[in-house]
Amino acid sequence: MPDLVERDLEVLWHPATHFADHARVPPLPIASAKGAWLTTAHGTRILDAISSWWTCLHGHGHPAIVEAIRNQVDALDHVMLAGFTHEPAVRLAEALLAAAPGDYGKVFYADCGSASVEIALKLSFQHRVQSGAGERRRFATLRNAYHGETLGALAVSGNDAYRGVFAPLLFEPLELPVPHFPAHRHADLGDGRLGEDSEEAERAVTLLRAHAHELSALVVEPLVQCAGKMAMMGAGYLRRIVQTAQALGIHVIADEIAVAFGRTGRLFASTWAGISPDLLCLSKGLSGGVLPLSCVLIRRGFEAAFQGDPSRSFLHSHTFTGNPIACAAGFASLQLLQTQTLPPLDAAVERLRVAAQHVATQCSRVQNHRQCGTIVAFDVTTTAEREAQLGGRISLAIREAGLRKGVLLRPLHDAVYWMPPLNLAPAELDHLATATTEVLRDVL
Ligand SMILES: *Cc1c(COP(=O)(O)O)cnc(C)c1O
Repeated sequence: MPDLVERDLEVLWHPATHFADHARVPPLPIASAKGAWLTTAHGTRILDAISSWWTCLHGHGHPAIVEAIRNQVDALDHVMLAGFTHEPAVRLAEALLAAAPGDYGKVFYADCGSASVEIALKLSFQHRVQSGAGERRRFATLRNAYHGETLGALAVSGNDAYRGVFAPLLFEPLELPVPHFPAHRHADLGDGRLGEDSEEAERAVTLLRAHAHELSALVVEPLVQCAGKMAMMGAGYLRRIVQTAQALGIHVIADEIAVAFGRTGRLFASTWAGISPDLLCLSKGLSGGVLPLSCVLIRRGFEAAFQGDPSRSFLHSHTFTGNPIACAAGFASLQLLQTQTLPPLDAAVERLRVAAQHVATQCSRVQNHRQCGTIVAFDVTTTAEREAQLGGRISLAIREAGLRKGVLLRPLHDAVYWMPPLNLAPAELDHLATATTEVLRDVL
C-alpha cells in the first residue's frame, strides 16, 4: 500500500495550492487535533496559529462542541429546511439575532461564506426590483477586498490574484479607495475615529454620492481585510462610509465572515464603528469552526419587499441549508463565547500586543506590525539576494520553516500573521512568539 501522501497526490486537487509546490512541500498528514495543536501522523505537534483558515475559535475538539454534535447526530442528522424546521436552526437564529449589532429580524442559512455573500447580493438586488428601484443594480466594494470565490462573490472582490483570470465573466463593481494603517494598534479602535478624515474616506464619500442612484449595496469587510494581507482600515473610515451609504439609501452588506465572534475583541467587528449593516454575512467561526455553516442576518422589515404574491419570493436554496448538526455546533460555540471566551478576551488581546511587540523588536526584517483584537500581522522584507535564493517564495519558505519549529504560519505573501484560537494559553503564545522570531530570523 503506498503511503497517504502518495495516495493523496494521486487523487486530490488541493485548494490554494500550486501543483508545482507539492514536490517541495507535500501535504502533511494530520492524525488528530486538540486545542491549539495539530498532531501529525508521526506524532509531531504543530501549533495552529491561524486557526485552520480562521475557523476554530475555541481550539480543536472543544468538549462542549463535540458533545453538542454527538447529541444532535443521535437525534436528527439532517432534514431539508424547506417545509420543515428543527430546534437547532431556530435556537441558533434566535441567539444570533439577540446578539447582533442592531435590529435584525431574520436569518437565512447557507453552508459557506461565499454562498452567504451571494445571498446578500441577490437579496439586495431583488429588494430593489420589487420596490420600484430596479435601476439600482451596481455594487460598491473596497479596493483590496475579498468576499469569496464563487462568481458573484469574486465579482465584488478586488484582488487580481483571485479575480484576474475570470474578469471577463464578472460584473463590474464600483471600487472605493480604502486607507491602510500598517501599524494599526488595537487601542486605535478606542475612540472609533481612525481614518474618518483620510483622503480615501473623502474620495469614497464623493464616489458614493455621485453613484448613489445606481447603487444597490456597498459591500465591506469591517475593520480588517483579512485575505487582503490583513490590511486594517480604521473604525472611523468604516463608520463614515457606512453611514454615508445608508443616508443615500444604499444597502450595506457587512462581510464579517472572518472578523466576527471575538476576532476583533468583540463579538462583532461592526460594533467598534457603531454601525448596523442591513445585511450581515457570517461563516468560518459560526459553527465554532468545525462544520460548514454560514448565514446572513437581515435587518428587520427588509423582508417586506418579498411578501405578497409568490412571484416575489426569494428563490434561493442550498441543499444543506440549516443542517441541524452544524447549527447545534454553532449554538454551543456562541454560548461558549458569551459565557467563557469573550469575558477574558481583553487580557488575551493585551498579551498578543506584548508578544507581537517582542517579535517586531527582535526581528530587524519586520517593517510594520499591526493588531486588531486577536488578529496580528507583521510586514516582512528581505534583501534582493535572499529573495532570489528563496526563488521569490518568501511565504512558502516561512511556512516550511514554521512547520519545522512546530507552528503553522501561512503568510499572505509578505504579511505574516497570527489568528490563533481565542483561548490560546499564555505559555502557548510564548511558544508561538519564540518560534515566529526564530523563523523570521532564519528565513529572512
Ligand atoms: C473566507 C472568506 C469568505 C469566503 O468564505 P468561504 O467559506 O471560503 O466561501 C468570504 N469573505 C471573507 C471576508 C472571508 O474571509
